[in-house]
Amino acid sequence: MQTHILGYPRIGSNRELKKACEQYWSGKNELQDLLQAGRESRRENWKLQQEAGIDLIPCNDFSYYDQVLDMTLSVGAIPERYKVIAEKSSIAQLDLYFAMARGFQKDGFDITAMEMTKWFDTNYHYIVPEFTKNQQFQLSDDKILDEFIEAKKAGIKPKPVIIGLVSYLLLGKEKEEGFDKLDLVDRLIPVYIDLLAALQKEGAEYIQFDEPFLALDLDEKSRAAFTFVYEEIRKQFPDLKFILATYFEGLKDNRSFCLNLPVDVLHIDLVRGPSELDAIIRELPKDLSLSLGIVDGRNIWKNDFAKSLELIQKTKEKLDSNRIFLAPSCSLLHVPYDLELETGLIPEIKNWMAFAKQKLQELKVLQDLADGNAEKRIGEFKDNQNAHKSRRTSSLIHNLSVKSRLEEISEDDTLRKNPFSLRKTQQQEALGLPQFPTTTIGSFPQTKEVRSWRAKFKKGELNAQQYDTLIKGETEKAIRRQEEIGLDVLVHGEYERNDMVEYFGEQLEGVLFSKRGWVQSYGSRCVKPPIIYGDVSRPESMTVYWSQYAQSLTKKWVKGMLTGPVTILQWSFVRDDQPRSQTCKQIALAIRDEVRDLEKAGIRIIQIDEPAIREGLPLRKAEWQDYLKWAIDCFKIASSAVGDSTQIHTHMCYSEFNDIIENIAYMDADVITIECSRSQMELLNAFSTYNYPNEIGPGVYDIHSPRVPSTEEILSLLDKAQKVIPAEQLWVNPDCGLKTRKWEETEKALKAMVNAAKMARVTV
Ligand code: GLN
Ligand code: ZN
Repeated sequence: MQTHILGYPRIGSNRELKKACEQYWSGKNELQDLLQAGRESRRENWKLQQEAGIDLIPCNDFSYYDQVLDMTLSVGAIPERYKVIAEKSSIAQLDLYFAMARGFQKDGFDITAMEMTKWFDTNYHYIVPEFTKNQQFQLSDDKILDEFIEAKKAGIKPKPVIIGLVSYLLLGKEKEEGFDKLDLVDRLIPVYIDLLAALQKEGAEYIQFDEPFLALDLDEKSRAAFTFVYEEIRKQFPDLKFILATYFEGLKDNRSFCLNLPVDVLHIDLVRGPSELDAIIRELPKDLSLSLGIVDGRNIWKNDFAKSLELIQKTKEKLDSNRIFLAPSCSLLHVPYDLELETGLIPEIKNWMAFAKQKLQELKVLQDLADGNAEKRIGEFKDNQNAHKSRRTSSLIHNLSVKSRLEEISEDDTLRKNPFSLRKTQQQEALGLPQFPTTTIGSFPQTKEVRSWRAKFKKGELNAQQYDTLIKGETEKAIRRQEEIGLDVLVHGEYERNDMVEYFGEQLEGVLFSKRGWVQSYGSRCVKPPIIYGDVSRPESMTVYWSQYAQSLTKKWVKGMLTGPVTILQWSFVRDDQPRSQTCKQIALAIRDEVRDLEKAGIRIIQIDEPAIREGLPLRKAEWQDYLKWAIDCFKIASSAVGDSTQIHTHMCYSEFNDIIENIAYMDADVITIECSRSQMELLNAFSTYNYPNEIGPGVYDIHSPRVPSTEEILSLLDKAQKVIPAEQLWVNPDCGLKTRKWEETEKALKAMVNAAKMARVTV
């Protein structure tokens, strides 16, 4: 039996690579310094895995920005607009790479970055390859080969990790009409062949091809592409050993197809698809080995050795040990570095957890336990089982009152008292808002100063009262500014919040925060997801103080501002000892109580942000409805406890809703605000085709750029909106929160927006 891993985090346990990149970008260090930081990151990772006793160690899992962009450079799929930079200004290859990732505003150029999007259902973002009809490919970068040679020199037996050809194409986007990206297979194969030839010449034995699309819904054309590609590659390289890595889902209807691809090892994700193992070992062709992805690469909990050994044992009964590989379910890129660096955790809870470094150890112990060295690991096995036992029964996790409350949830709790048509009249009477009411999405510019107060407060350099006074001052300024601008529904500005999930996580019981649990989100950007470890409850109200304070300052309505249960769940590490739906319902109940408290405190408009509902959709379409049912029920549990005249808003970003519009309507929020300006209101079509009955605020300007829109521009967007949605259903607001903007542009933009709404009222 051999152990291997699919990839390791690369940003550095102290975020060294992040810092080196950012210093390089800002001109504070030299290219040499950055390259040195890269070498160190790789060397450290290799050494760590070597010491942990991992048999096959990956190379080319390192990246200065993103592994998909690395591949784009390797195969020479550089979009024309960047080639021009390379020709006209003499920049290093790495600078060209960063230009593609981040855009290039220098030497008279002003070129935007390539598009970025989410890597399957993770919070990692990759740079989307761009293809043209005449797309040419050629081996254009030595990264893969260089890192292989470097790893060999470091004394390990490296296994290059390469994004598989078909997945690489499927990750990309056609930039022109009239062709299908899969038609590019023929042109791309020679490049892969050149690359493999070079690796073979340097002595490579194993090659890992990441083909995550094999775990997704596949059409016939994609399947044909997979067959063609792997048959071609096999023909050319009968002696290389190919590991085909699938992850993030079970193989499902692609099972027999995958089992028959001409490779040497198939890696499967047993965390996501454990029940498939029986069928897979039954149907496994004789010349195919199996890599069991048993250690969870997407979460931070300890592996349950007893359960894993069962799976390994089952495999051993059918397969010789030399055909079995043990691995994490996917790359460890998605978990933090090292649990040992965490000093502030409750020891009992810490004992349930494993970060990347600990997961290496788990693999090694499992290998020994399963493969003839069990005696020397007996102690570790017992410790592991004790940790799981303590987790099953710990009073830190199990809160009986939360559990019994969950059982009592009924259909009724997910419904408002009356249908929207009746609520609408009551709300009109109670709120007295004009037509085309204007509002914002919640946050206002968060200056360095505001963030420095929070930092000082955390360090104890400001006491609670001083901090409170400062934040109140800022909130009051925001209220006055909104009054001056003439907005109809005001917000308090969210100055007390660092982040829309962290703020709530910190106040909920059953959720904890690591100090150094950073995970790469994109490029040099890292996030520290909250860890939901136990039954979630709300010891006291979380936002009433600030909303009430803001409301006391003005005669206009102030909108209460909450993050929804699905978004809190989606952006956290979630406990794996109960279904996610269960955990989500607990959060929903906590938010429900908060909504009720806000209403009691006189807040009559309450927004529950759910930007993550869409991104939580399962990778396989067949599972969508199941997810949507519980996810939307959670939103409804959170939002339905109020009276008819209290108005519930929700907000979502990136709102492509065509395929789930029915579910969005079922949420029954009185008002939904969505990001719309960059699509020129096109995203509203889904709502109009469906005859969406409730109110909608399509974003009328892009908040991602400092550009100030003109009144005319906004007015023309409003005209467009009225063509598809009746005027009495429309709100007027920006695309999203304004946290990252400056006040100067914000004031101008909002004034233009308010003007446009006033003009629209006249013409209707
Ligand atoms: N209320 C949040 C804000 O304005 C919403 C953020 C979001 O949608 N991502 O910042
Ligand atoms: Zn948003």
